[in-house]
Amino acid sequence: MVSTTSSLGETLPVLGATRHGADGTVGAALLSSAGVVEATYFKVDQDAAIARGRLDRERVCISCTGGGCGMGCVTFCETGQNAPTGQCTVADMLGQVLAIREIVAAERATAGERDSLPPWGVTFAGMGEPGTNLAAVIPAIETFLSPDWSSVVDQVSLSTIGLVDKMRELTRAMRRRKLPLRLYYSAHGFGNRTDIIPMNAHHPLREGLVALHEHARYTVGEFGIKAAVSYLLLHGVNDDIAIVDQLAEELDPAYIDVQILMKNRTEHTPDLRTDDATADRWAARFAELGFRSWVTRSSGRDEDTRVGCGQMSAAHGGDHVAVSGRRLLPVSWPAAGAAG
Ligand code: SF4
Repeated sequence: MVSTTSSLGETLPVLGATRHGADGTVGAALLSSAGVVEATYFKVDQDAAIARGRLDRERVCISCTGGGCGMGCVTFCETGQNAPTGQCTVADMLGQVLAIREIVAAERATAGERDSLPPWGVTFAGMGEPGTNLAAVIPAIETFLSPDWSSVVDQVSLSTIGLVDKMRELTRAMRRRKLPLRLYYSAHGFGNRTDIIPMNAHHPLREGLVALHEHARYTVGEFGIKAAVSYLLLHGVNDDIAIVDQLAEELDPAYIDVQILMKNRTEHTPDLRTDDATADRWAARFAELGFRSWVTRSSGRDEDTRVGCGQMSAAHGGDHVAVSGRRLLPVSWPAAGAAG
């Protein structure tokens, strides 16, 4: 039995709406102490994973701020279009995993599946930049990786746009506690990264990559776990194949893997989707240069049920209040279980 949050004196988030992708992806919008948060469960087709040569972990992606995010990556991120309404507590983060696990368990029971759910990977890659909320993110990681939670969570990863001082603070905290956190750094652009991730003006790519390698030296040394660079391809903006070699110059394949991301169509960001062939060329070129690389393209991307970060809120169509050119999210949601 996992420890819940009564000892923290914090309230668990309340489930609002759910959405289901044709590929088994489940999105959940919850009302937390920080406002609306979204969590997404990614089902894994293990036969396909084995065919690719590895067993993938089922995982859930959680949010660490409510409502939106103040980092302003508006070119590609639906969450970045929304004003943040607050920072999640530890209970808000743990509760996202428990809530979505309950949904998936109930669905499996209804389908007659008797096996208990395996432990999942948890990734901090939903709404909000984790570096802005380390006071809650670090104890949440610690809890997820504690023995009490081992039947629920067995891996934790975190995605950051690279607030360099916060990356180093996180690495120090993981070192102190000897925790195997896999770190993903959003590179998304090379010469023009500031256009895509405005915070790059204050936390430049090269400094972020130095901090990423520092983290990876710790996790490879202690656990054999590499860090990773994530690169979201935006058609005509940052997908010139020549960038691969430039970026690879900054990376050591002994410590860093490369994840190529493809963009979903979203409600409020430009349609800059790259084609599959371009993504495959990028991954193949990184592989030629000695990196373990792969393309993430499928989960939750089908047109009717897009459940990526911030997309449920964007598609909800509730009354949005304009604040500083962005939108505040509605606080009322359809009943749990209602498809958006
Ligand atoms: S990409 Fe991450 S940091 Fe940037 S706006 Fe979206 S949630 Fe915030």
